[in-house]
Amino acid sequence: MYVIKFEDLGKDDIGVAGGKGANLGELTQAGIPVPPGFVVTSETYDKFMRDTGIFNKVMDILKETDINNTKELQDAAEEIKGIIIETPIPDGISTYITEAYNQLSERVGLDAADVAIRSSATAEDLPEASFAGQQDTFLHVQGIDQVIEYVRKCWASLFEARAIFYREENNFEHSQVYIAVVVQQMVDSDKAGVMFTVNPSTGENIALIEGSWGLGESVVSGTVTPDNYVVSKENNEVLNITISDKKTMFTNDEEGTSIQVEVPEDMRNERVLSDEELEKLVEMAKRVEGHYGKPQDTEWAFHDGNLFLLQSRPITTLGDSEEKADEEDDVDLEVLIKGLGASPGLASGTVKIILDLDELDKVQEGDVMVTTMTTPDMVPAMKRANGIVTDEGGVTCHAAIISRELGIPCVVGTGDATSTLKENDEVTADGKKGLVYKGIIKGAEDETASESAVQVSAAPLITVTEVKANVSMAEAAPKAAATGADGVGLLRTEHMMLSTGIHPKKFILDGEEDKLVDVIAESVLKVADEFYPKPVWYRTLDAPTDEFITLEGGENEPREHNPMLGWRGIRRELDEPEILKAEFKAIKKLHDKGYKNIGIMIPLSQHPSELRRAKELCAEVGLVPQVDVQFGMMVEIPAAAILIDEYIAEGIDFVSLGTNDLTQYTLAVDRNNEYVAKHYREEHPAVMALIERTIKHCAAAGVTCSICGQAGSVPHIVEKLVKFGITSVSSNTDAVEEVRKTVARAEKKIMLDAARKQL
Ligand code: PEP
Ligand code: MG
Repeated sequence: MYVIKFEDLGKDDIGVAGGKGANLGELTQAGIPVPPGFVVTSETYDKFMRDTGIFNKVMDILKETDINNTKELQDAAEEIKGIIIETPIPDGISTYITEAYNQLSERVGLDAADVAIRSSATAEDLPEASFAGQQDTFLHVQGIDQVIEYVRKCWASLFEARAIFYREENNFEHSQVYIAVVVQQMVDSDKAGVMFTVNPSTGENIALIEGSWGLGESVVSGTVTPDNYVVSKENNEVLNITISDKKTMFTNDEEGTSIQVEVPEDMRNERVLSDEELEKLVEMAKRVEGHYGKPQDTEWAFHDGNLFLLQSRPITTLGDSEEKADEEDDVDLEVLIKGLGASPGLASGTVKIILDLDELDKVQEGDVMVTTMTTPDMVPAMKRANGIVTDEGGVTCHAAIISRELGIPCVVGTGDATSTLKENDEVTADGKKGLVYKGIIKGAEDETASESAVQVSAAPLITVTEVKANVSMAEAAPKAAATGADGVGLLRTEHMMLSTGIHPKKFILDGEEDKLVDVIAESVLKVADEFYPKPVWYRTLDAPTDEFITLEGGENEPREHNPMLGWRGIRRELDEPEILKAEFKAIKKLHDKGYKNIGIMIPLSQHPSELRRAKELCAEVGLVPQVDVQFGMMVEIPAAAILIDEYIAEGIDFVSLGTNDLTQYTLAVDRNNEYVAKHYREEHPAVMALIERTIKHCAAAGVTCSICGQAGSVPHIVEKLVKFGITSVSSNTDAVEEVRKTVARAEKKIMLDAARKQL
């Protein structure tokens, strides 16, 4: 069969229809409304290749090609693709495609249906790379001539240089690899979104639906806060509705490209889904779940009142919590409060509300600590807690950073956990989804830092880009070192100093500078020792006034309106050079003991003159920057990214991108403020532009460039940074393994792409 409609395909038809085609067929057969379409089978491709005589031509070209000669490989790929794209499809085949397309057009009520054309790989056991073109998708194709042209383009994609190279390297026969092509109606939805067929956090048997205007992209990408509906699957009763202010939507422009536009004023706060539409969705939820026998995570769209399912996959997050919920029938897993997931894991325990530092003793082993916002002097209590929940904060706030390092589940930015949750209640915090449930989830109360600790790979991957770890507390260093990280790309000093409970200024005022030097040196030594001889970058004190105020001697800290824009970082240290000098003395002490692996970097600089002054002070204690000690800086303020060449001219050994601050200062979004957390986006084009600029200018000058902000723990961002040419990435301990894999993959891809382009 050359062409098969979705209705006639099922999950076992991968050989003829490819994975995508078979899956769409399976859903259609199950009566689930997917946009209609058909598959041009792998047999068609085979027949086309043989009947036109190009099969032998192609095989001959491949036989004569030395795939290790990039130019030859590239030329062969171009030649073969040209042949396939230009060879007319014999009438015996094209009439079937034409007929199927005409039927589809008729079905959707158009002269020429607007379709998406996608290649669909036919052998699941072959890795993706052997079908380079399987990702090829051509949207908004209209008219039979175009359809035929794009079908040939999909076929031709089987002979991308990368695919040829991969098959030869792995001894797959070119003649045994086939490709199918999916042709499917495009759906320009009026409203769309996602639906979970059970509550993905608790496993509760309801439909959880999120929807907004236009294409589903706005919901899936998180660009909009969608309406949220909870509907009973038993009687379609709507259990809860949250209508949001939906500011933007995606729609297709005339060329069919999706563009973001403002939602008309009168629709912004309008409810997206009617009761009837919710019923249709619930009906679909039951069908798709029944068909697969498992709860599903789906994407749906309404177009002119018709509901379509665009995607369905099993819910992967249920795992233990679902099983545990089943075990404990009497446990009520109601969500008590929502916030932002800041440190993954489930933590059950008794609520202890901390509104004052005097109350810290209330937190005993295994409790869930609930507070407005953690401060550094809460760290000992945080260590005892099973989980942490805060009213305020975003994912880079103090509570988030420390919880991740301690491996304690944490939910931040709930708004009012301290008043909503009740002392001594039993709850479970879900640090991945940012939820707090009522009751204990069996097993979660034992989930300690060590269990959720990093996994050490038996044979660490070797990457050219170094993958380092961030460390804030000396006691976390062994766990960080166990990841095999290439060093410490950020040693946050604040927490080490704060662990003394005494403000550093107090040491100076009491004439105890030596003591301060010793305290710092002892803490840093533990980390430098653990990683020796790998580099450890000590960052000088970045002390926001609101965090230091509670320390002994902190009474004199100024009360600033906006500490994030205030007296912190290197600007503060240059005003209090005694503390900075004590830090330099501590590092000198360790260097004198042989720990030459410690480098120094300054935080939050906005002008090269600050770098110059800091270097002078360092030299004054007998440690000459760039001679005795590696000296670098953080790029955390747009000004530093813009003036990076001037900094380089001033003299630095390395740069580290502090994207937590760079993001807040570029976007004017306080990183600690939960009200604006949704606008905090490291991937904002302006932030990415500053990052790219910094990396490229450093690379051009031969200066090492790293990252130590939270973005360095996010694999898809790291992939981009590697492409920009970053020299190292420093992640949270729990992310090192994943980041290392991402880096390795990105590096391989760059090498392969370069090999192809080289000649
Ligand atoms: C940063 O700003 O990205 C950074 C790593 O520093 P901190 O989070 O300590 O401000
Ligand atoms: Mg910072």
